Amino acid sequence: MQLTGNYLALAYLVSATLFILGLKSLTHPASARRGNYYAMFGMLLAIAATAFNPAIRSYDFIVAGIVLGAAIGTLIALKIRMTAMPQLVAALHSFVGLTAVLVAVGTYLTHRAQGTLNTVLMAELFVGAFIGAITFTGSLVAFGKLQGIITGRPLIFAGQHILNMMIALVMLGFGVDFLLHNQFGALLILIALALTLGVLLIVPIGGADMPVVVSMLNSYSGWAAAATGFTLGNNLLIITGALVGFSGAILSYIMSKAMNRSIGSIILGGFGGGESTAGTGAVTAAAKGIKTAAVEDAVFLMANASKVIIVPGYGMAVAQAQHALKELVDILESKGVTVHFAIHPVAGRMPGHMNVLLAEADVPYDHVFEMEEINPEFTTADVALVVGANDVTNPAAKSDKSSPIYGMPILDVYKARQIFFIKRSMNPGYSGVENQLFYQDNCSLVFGDAKKVCEKMVVELKAA
Ligand code: NDP
Repeated sequence: MQLTGNYLALAYLVSATLFILGLKSLTHPASARRGNYYAMFGMLLAIAATAFNPAIRSYDFIVAGIVLGAAIGTLIALKIRMTAMPQLVAALHSFVGLTAVLVAVGTYLTHRAQGTLNTVLMAELFVGAFIGAITFTGSLVAFGKLQGIITGRPLIFAGQHILNMMIALVMLGFGVDFLLHNQFGALLILIALALTLGVLLIVPIGGADMPVVVSMLNSYSGWAAAATGFTLGNNLLIITGALVGFSGAILSYIMSKAMNRSIGSIILGGFGGGESTAGTGAVTAAAKGIKTAAVEDAVFLMANASKVIIVPGYGMAVAQAQHALKELVDILESKGVTVHFAIHPVAGRMPGHMNVLLAEADVPYDHVFEMEEINPEFTTADVALVVGANDVTNPAAKSDKSSPIYGMPILDVYKARQIFFIKRSMNPGYSGVENQLFYQDNCSLVFGDAKKVCEKMVVELKAA
C-alpha cells in the first residue's frame, strides 16, 4: 500500500492535530496522561503514513533504525532517574541537531548530483545546517555539564562575546558564499564554525542556569527540525518543529521569569555553579545559632495542628521521598489535619518536577497548589514542613538586594506559625546562598535524608 497526495496530507493533518491536542492536555495534571496518549498516537500515525510514502525505496535502514531506537529508548526510559531527566533531554536534542546537519549535507549532495539545486533549497540547507550544528554541540556541552562529565562552573574568558560575534559573522559570510557560488566547501566550513559556536555559547553558562538552556536548546532543535521539514518538503515536520520551537521558547521565558533572570543574562552566562561555603550538620547549625529539632518534635506539632503545608523541593526528588510523604499525609488526614502541598514553579530541577513525583505517589491533585494560590494560606498554617527545598523558600529573595536570587518570587513559608526543614546538612541550594529563614525564631532544621526522615515520621505518627 502507498499513501499519496491528499491521503498523506490528511494523515499528517490528523497527526498535527493530535500533537496540538497532546500539548493542550499536558497543561493540566488531570488531563496530562490523555495528552501523552494523543501525542503517542499522533506519532504512530505520522510514522505509519511516512512509511507508506511512495518516495521510500528501501525499508532496510528504516526498520533497523526503528527496532534499534525503540530498544535503546525503552531501556533508557526504564532506567533513567527523574533527577537525570534534564541531561537525557539535552542528549536527545543533540540527535535532532545532528540529524538536521546530516540531512542538509545529504540533500545537497543528492540534488547537486541530480542538477536540481536552487537558491531557495540552498537557503533552507544553510539555515538547517547551522541551527542543527549549534544545537548538536550546544546540547552535548549541556549534557556534559549536567552529567558532571565537564565542570558545571561558568567558563569565562576575556573577549568571549566578541569572539562569538566574529565567528557568527564569518559563518554568515560562508553562508552567503555557499548561496551565491554553490560551494560545498563553504557549506562544510559554515557547519564547522556553527559546531564551534555551539560549544562557545554554552560553556560560559553555569549549572544553575542549565535547565533553562536545555529548554532553549529544545527550542533550537524544533527550529532545526522545521528547517529540515522545508528541505524534505515534509509539512508535518515543519508543523512539529514549529510547535517544539515555540513551546521551548515559551518554557525558557517562563523558567527565567520564575528565577528572576532575564533570558539575555542567561545567554551571556556567568551565573551559578559556585562552591558552597556553608559547613555541614548540626554542629555548624548550633554554632550559627540555628535551631534544630528531633523528628518526634515535628511529629508532635503536626499531629496537633489543624493545617500543615508541605513544601517539596529538589531534595525530595533526590531522596525519592514522595511515597513516604504520601503515607505521612494519609495518617495526618486520618487525624483530622488539613494537609496541602505548595509547589514553586522552579522547585526541583525541571518544570513540573514536583507535580510528576507527587502524581507518581498518588497524591490527589486537589491537595496540590501553585505558588499564587497557596501563598495567602501560610499565615493560617500551624506547620510548614519543607522537604528538601531551599532556594524557593529563602526570604532573601524579597529583602536582600545583594542576593543573587533577589527578586525571585518565593513561597511565603516564613509566615507559617512553625517551620520544619528536612535536609541533610547546612549546604545551600542550587543558587549557593544560605537560607535566611534558618535564623527565624519559628524555624527548626530536622537533619537527615528526606526519605528516611519521612519514614521515621510515619512510624512516630502511627505510634502517637
Ligand atoms: P534547592 O536546590 O534550593 O535546595 C535543595 C535542598 O535539598 C538543598 O538544600 C539540599 O540540602 C537538600 N537535599 C538534597 N538532597 C537531599 C536529601 N537526600 N534529603 C534531604 N534533603 C536533601 O531546591 P529547590 O527545589 O528549593 O529550588 C530549586 C532551585 O533550582 C532554584 O534555585 C531554581 O532556580 C533552580 N532551578 C530550577 C529549575 C526548574 O525548572 N525546576 C530550573 C533551573 C534551576 P542538603 O544538601 O543539606 O541536604
